[in-house]
Amino acid sequence: MTLELDIELEELLDGLRRFVTAEVLPREEAMQEVLADPRKIYDEAGRYTQQIMDARREIREAAAEAGFYQMFVPTELGGGGQGAVALYAVWEDLYHRWGMAHWLAFDSVAHWATGPSQLFLEASDRVQREVFPLLMAGKKTLCFAMSEPDAGSDLWMMTTSARRDGAGWRINGTKQWMTNGPYADYALVFAVTDAEASAQRKGGLSAFLVPTTEPGYQVDSLIKIYGHIGSNEAIVSLTDTWVPDDAILGSLNNGLQLGLAGTTLGRLYNSARSVGLSRWALETALEYAKVRTTFGTPIIDYQGVSFPLVDRSIELLGAHLMGLHAARLLDAGRSAVAEAAMAKICSTEVAGRTIDQAVQALGGMGLTNEVHLTKAWQELRAVRIADGSAEILRRLLVGRLQKGAVPL
Ligand SMILES: Cc1cc2nc3c(=O)[nH]c(=O)nc-3n(C[C@H](O)[C@H](O)[C@H](O)COP(=O)(O)OP(=O)(O)OC[C@H]3O[C@@H](n4cnc5c(N)ncnc54)[C@H](O)[C@@H]3O)c2cc1C
Repeated sequence: MTLELDIELEELLDGLRRFVTAEVLPREEAMQEVLADPRKIYDEAGRYTQQIMDARREIREAAAEAGFYQMFVPTELGGGGQGAVALYAVWEDLYHRWGMAHWLAFDSVAHWATGPSQLFLEASDRVQREVFPLLMAGKKTLCFAMSEPDAGSDLWMMTTSARRDGAGWRINGTKQWMTNGPYADYALVFAVTDAEASAQRKGGLSAFLVPTTEPGYQVDSLIKIYGHIGSNEAIVSLTDTWVPDDAILGSLNNGLQLGLAGTTLGRLYNSARSVGLSRWALETALEYAKVRTTFGTPIIDYQGVSFPLVDRSIELLGAHLMGLHAARLLDAGRSAVAEAAMAKICSTEVAGRTIDQAVQALGGMGLTNEVHLTKAWQELRAVRIADGSAEILRRLLVGRLQKGAVPL
């Protein structure tokens, strides 16, 4: 598969591969015994152990020193200023090259919802001065707190509210599903600040940067999802948690715009990692099928094995081109909301089929923890729900089609 990337981007990918080889793999090697056993990755409560947390922080800090961690942060904020095509290519390459066996490698680059990002262009001077450098250096992390128990697909059902109190805001409510929620130092909390506008689904939401050490902020529980004995997602409550005015990111009552800018990047990221992991799974299957023989013949020679893999590779190329197309439009200054939605639907659904087919090609071996294929399937199954479910994105596209616009 050719990416037809320019030479500078190829060099960037090459540099990142060398960084992972030098900084991540030796750490993994030293922790081999821990990483091979989920009971040693998580503590009894289901949180990452201190050893895992330390390793992840060290990787973030080393990547920040090397300039990889913050490469997608705009130059105005001191980042590398890399655009959407680079974002797509970097995440695709990370997941393709390292697969699920080397998941610590994914901490080498900041994700918009858990680390520094362009969203902080909208932060106050104080936040940019006091908080942002800690995120940029990989010392502190963030979580994105939009969803609630009764507000998932329909975010207008949000009940978390912020009311004026002195020179700031008092926030009350419960947030659910926050990735990195159990560990984050700061939460970007979305709350209703104008109940009337929100009830009319016309705005009235604001985004607040809340230190997770503030009184009233509490991680209520960890959400363990299928196949994991620990968690990266949390339910969090805020009870009369106070933040000053300048904790608002973006402008008052316009938090939704900020959230949407982030989710488009998120959909591109999820497209890239779906394609990357699918490619890795397909290559794993092909390698195995060339050496595994039954009835005196390598199984790759049976069309019952090879044709489904060919079909998946055809679909995968389509998904990949869709992701790149959305990224190129974003770099050209277009919003690419529809194209990013299409890329995310296509890539996540193709990934489900591709990884499943790879498991089938490996027979019983495909089910073992040794090859990590089922871990990849688990990882990507969640993405058909998170970050705009497949149905909600189709709903968005119906709206576009009804206006007569077929995005081509
Ligand atoms: C692993 C994971 C990580 C997440 N991380 C975050 C995070 O960091 N921050 C955050 O804020 N949120 C996060 N989320 C929440 C995620 O955004 C929501 O799960 C998602 O928006 C769906 O909401 P829901 O789970 O409440 O499902 P619901 O909204 O209850 O939907 C249930 C089902 O009905 C379908 N459905 C709903 N409405 C319609 C409709 N009109 N037409 C057709 N089908 C419909 C949905 O597609 C879904 O299949 C995460 C979720 C997961 C699983």
